Amino acid sequence: MDCVFCKIVDHEAHAEILYESEHVLSFLDINPVNFGHTLVITKKHYDDFLSVPREELDHIIRAVQSISGVIQSKLNCDGFNIVINNGIAAGQTVRHFHFHIIPRYHNDDFRFKLNLKKYSDNLMKEYADKIRAELKI
Ligand code: 5GP
Ligand code: ZN
Repeated sequence: MDCVFCKIVDHEAHAEILYESEHVLSFLDINPVNFGHTLVITKKHYDDFLSVPREELDHIIRAVQSISGVIQSKLNCDGFNIVINNGIAAGQTVRHFHFHIIPRYHNDDFRFKLNLKKYSDNLMKEYADKIRAELKI
């Protein structure tokens, strides 16, 4: 499979690796929103969030928390965003599941361009009902 992140896992492509365990790999994003922008990936290839088995999620979410804590303390950032893009519409460009950890600073130039909507009448309940009906956790 022609996947750039699998190549990084297999050490066929270079990356600035921060952390490696049996299940998880973390390295710096090549095009950072802010310096220190970090990716955390499952070593096994899964296309996106919904295809990741739960045991793998346990491993990766722990790594994301630890790495975020070190980023916050060592880079002295004022906060950080944890982002997962799923699907082209959501901005996913590499179809190998990954978290972004993006260090944030007061007044930095990263902005989500939001056009916030308003629910009319019963619409909020309709949306909630659709989601609730299928929820089994
Ligand atoms: P996505 O848009 O899929 O959520 O994020 C993919 C991220 O991977 C992007 O932020 C992009 O800069 C990063 N990326 C793509 N190719 C490479 C690469 O070869 N090396 C590294 N270190 N990062 C990459
Ligand atoms: Zn892959």
